[in-house]
Amino acid sequence: MTDRTPPLLVRVLPLLIGLMMGACAGPGGTIRSTDVAPPPAQPESASGIQAKPGWSFSRHAVAAANPLATEAGAQVLRAGGSAVDAAIAVQMVLALVEPQSSGIGGGAFLLHFDGKRVQAFDGRETAPAAATPQLFLGTDGKPLPFMDAVASGRSVGVPGAVAMLALAHRQHGTLPWARLFEPAIALADRGFAVSPRLHSLLASETALKADPVAATYFYRADGTPHPVGHVLKNPELVAVLRRIAATGPAALTDGPVARAIVAKVTQHPVRPGTLALDDLQRYQPKEREALCFDHTAVARALRICGFPPPSSGAIAVGQIMGLLARTPQGTQPLAGVPGADWLHTYMEASRLAFADRAQYLGDPDFVAPPAGHWNSLLAPHYLDERAKLITPTRAPQANPGQLGGVASAWARMPEQPEYGTSHISIVDRFGNALAMTTTIEAGFGARLMVNTGEGRGGGFLLNNQLTDFSFTPTDAQGQPVANRVEPGKRPRSSMSPTLVFDKASGQLLMSAGSPGGALIIHFTAKTLLATLQGGLSPQAAIDLPNFGTLGGPVMLEEQRFDAATVQALRDRGHTVNQTAMTSGLQALQRSPSGAWLGGADPRREGVVAGD
Ligand code: GLU
Repeated sequence: MTDRTPPLLVRVLPLLIGLMMGACAGPGGTIRSTDVAPPPAQPESASGIQAKPGWSFSRHAVAAANPLATEAGAQVLRAGGSAVDAAIAVQMVLALVEPQSSGIGGGAFLLHFDGKRVQAFDGRETAPAAATPQLFLGTDGKPLPFMDAVASGRSVGVPGAVAMLALAHRQHGTLPWARLFEPAIALADRGFAVSPRLHSLLASETALKADPVAATYFYRADGTPHPVGHVLKNPELVAVLRRIAATGPAALTDGPVARAIVAKVTQHPVRPGTLALDDLQRYQPKEREALCFDHTAVARALRICGFPPPSSGAIAVGQIMGLLARTPQGTQPLAGVPGADWLHTYMEASRLAFADRAQYLGDPDFVAPPAGHWNSLLAPHYLDERAKLITPTRAPQANPGQLGGVASAWARMPEQPEYGTSHISIVDRFGNALAMTTTIEAGFGARLMVNTGEGRGGGFLLNNQLTDFSFTPTDAQGQPVANRVEPGKRPRSSMSPTLVFDKASGQLLMSAGSPGGALIIHFTAKTLLATLQGGLSPQAAIDLPNFGTLGGPVMLEEQRFDAATVQALRDRGHTVNQTAMTSGLQALQRSPSGAWLGGADPRREGVVAGD
């Protein structure tokens, strides 16, 4: 490590100045690359830095990506609601005020702890029954241009977030279901002030305007987005939320809203999809076994639980942490801006983790785990072997490991852009806690806004989650990719909602997660390493500069690393791109005195509230 983290203002001021200067850098003002390889597109563009103070509460706390959503969750907790109750209220407000990231037209993963056991509720979208492995191939047999596939009916998966929340509510809800919709309904009815982030994302967005419902709702007659502070009402969402409040998830699978979803997808003017009423009605949220692994930090034995496949998150985070723990450089605590030695080790560990991810990860209902169990990818003897591949210079290639002595039957999935998501962490006063990451995939999803045509403006956006499948179903030799499209299948995810426990006592220590496409894995790993190992508060950990790799170039958050570090990484063989890395981390951590410390990402609009 090169330094300890300085006080907040000292950390953020140069960043603000840097960002203002960076605004002159070119269109978007964000991507500055000094090497040839292009950095991957960012999930959602940057919208400036807002320093966050960090928070501390003694009874309960909620951390979410928008102050109005956080407040709705806090009100539910104050009214005696459980963590799941609060998450439902938060999600419904996010659908209104952060529509670019998540909502009732998308999917979510919820990791829940009730004081005794951890449950993984899977509300991931599914491919329609008529989808084929060729879904994203053009008539020439080549993959469609990525954005053509995103902004289309083809990319829309069966939404799962509401059905999953209803399942979790049946088990862990305290307040009546309908009560949890009241904050969002009231806010959609009286209108909310357009936030700076929503405004700036609308300003840089082009495809959304092609949808007449979205164009009328989000933009003024001259095509410019509503200004910051404009009070935006969504009467159609009021009506839809009232229906869900009254009849549950069936409101989205039967009747006028379901018909409007199907019409929107199948009547796309250029690239329609096949989503049918049957697909909506057949959807089942799933309860899966959480994926947990042991980790030792500062001589303390921890148990870290994350989301199992179809997410690749917990496996990749666990592999990176496990590999670092097996190298001398990697065991140095991350307690400030990391130096080149540590970063090199981190990147090599990540390249190995991403090689396994590309090889093995897919929907567990379709793809068998290597050596019979997903935990094989985190087994100590396996990580011991993999760690030996980390050398002082960049390995020319990072290959997937061979498990159980069997060569994999899958072809590796090429890295694809992954993009609009939101993370929620909540602890309630009853000892329940959750980490939920929720998404419509890209910013504004498929750019399709559902409206029942009953004369009200607004509505809700549909996901483009199916573009998380591999566009190419096979490699050049015809070998299938594990994460190819198949009917009824769930696309591989990177979402990494995480709960951390003290292994000996079983006490919950932390809830964390982030949006950010495949970079979610790095944002989450950074936060876990800096809090658990580096001893930083959640806020200080989140504030640390972002870094990572998807297997190719090293990505460093622009303007946050010195030239010597960048050069030292290049000297070790890395291609280095300095780019905006717009994480949206939220975390809650139990302090030694028992208080809940909260952190929210300065790169987005999140806050923490509680008592
Ligand atoms: N669709 C991505 C996933 O499920 C998340 C996208 C994002 O975070 O922006 O992994």
